[in-house]
Amino acid sequence: MKQFLFVISICFVTSAVFCQKTFIWCGTLIDGISDEPRKNMTIIIEKDKITGVENGFSKAGATDKVIDLKTKTVTPGWIDMHVHMENETKKGNVADKFIQNPPDIAFESVGYAKVTLMAGFTTVRDLGGNGVNISLRNAINKGLVIGPRIYTAGKSIATTGGHADPTNGYRKDLMGDPGPKEGVINGPDDAYHAVRQRYKDGSDLIKITATGGVLSQAKDGANAQFTEEEVKAIVTAAKDYGFKVAAHAHGAEGIKRAVRGGVNSIEHGTFMDDEGMKLMKQYGTWYVPTITAGKSVGDSAKIPGYYTDIVTPKALATGPQIQRTFAKAYKEGVKIAFGTDAGVYKHGLNWLEFTYMIEAGMKPMDAIKSATANAAELLGEKERLGTIEINKLADIVAVDGDPLNDAKAFGKVVFVMKGGVVYKQ
Ligand SMILES: [Zn+2]
Repeated sequence: MKQFLFVISICFVTSAVFCQKTFIWCGTLIDGISDEPRKNMTIIIEKDKITGVENGFSKAGATDKVIDLKTKTVTPGWIDMHVHMENETKKGNVADKFIQNPPDIAFESVGYAKVTLMAGFTTVRDLGGNGVNISLRNAINKGLVIGPRIYTAGKSIATTGGHADPTNGYRKDLMGDPGPKEGVINGPDDAYHAVRQRYKDGSDLIKITATGGVLSQAKDGANAQFTEEEVKAIVTAAKDYGFKVAAHAHGAEGIKRAVRGGVNSIEHGTFMDDEGMKLMKQYGTWYVPTITAGKSVGDSAKIPGYYTDIVTPKALATGPQIQRTFAKAYKEGVKIAFGTDAGVYKHGLNWLEFTYMIEAGMKPMDAIKSATANAAELLGEKERLGTIEINKLADIVAVDGDPLNDAKAFGKVVFVMKGGVVYKQ
């Protein structure tokens, strides 16, 4: 009798707490795998995972939860492969790094994380900050803060005077000579040291700045800043720790060195030439275009005093080119993963990238795949993320309208679930 009561009580507890399923009724389902959307489908979720995808609107049990999205379009949670969660563009903010302490940055980043998730981006790759991005990832994982699942590079790796040298533009007595610990290398030995330091810091991947960049206080926005030998050393060291390597690169020569050096993705790729595109296909390197950032810095540069005098001409020359390069790379068959450089423009507007990709000739379904299945593959997480199918994490978003025929629908996110937990409904 005692045993019988025990079994009864276990069943009661498990059905109420553990056996409860969530049924999402989807008017239109885009699953990240098929090229065709499906009408009237049900996704079944248990705990943090998808356990069923069924035709029609399946009947839920008495203890199950039903979410009615019969009038919405449902897709896998979106993944932005290039964001900076620590900051956001502001006019004349060049002095911020001298007046902001890490806790100031942290409090601001909490807001950016929330708007990013609410915009439908359930996962992001943070490609460079000062280490607050690592703490933010941990706080989100612990449930202390609401935000997307973050994979972070921690501090980017540059060469002396290069795009992510943290003391560019400083007064000489403040410059010092940052080294591998601070993410600045010269030569292969430093490269190993810097990668191992990122591992010690708790980074998830490596980001290098293979060429000059737009927003650093330095003259050249596109020159090659790593030798091929240095890139190879970074990539070899990164493999020991299971890190992928993302390379910021605008100029053609730096892009080619990075691709031949074995990086996993080229970020921006602004002045990529035909040979560069050919190499990317040959090496299977991903292209993360960040068209939104290009357009945004190009527009901001027209506002007097928005950027310093050394940055403005770079922003005007680089910004508008990215969309044209993307159009060509897509046509040529270079692998594309979605990324926006959020922070360079306002967080939460990441969806604009879909509209710019489609405007440049990408099929809307390909644009969705770039932000779901493709992005998950580049992350090295295709077993867990990026599609709506059994055993994947339940990262699911829904929009009002039909994103396959109206790109503005990407900006109308009405439902967000991350790991089986509803954040927006
Ligand atoms: Zn960036």
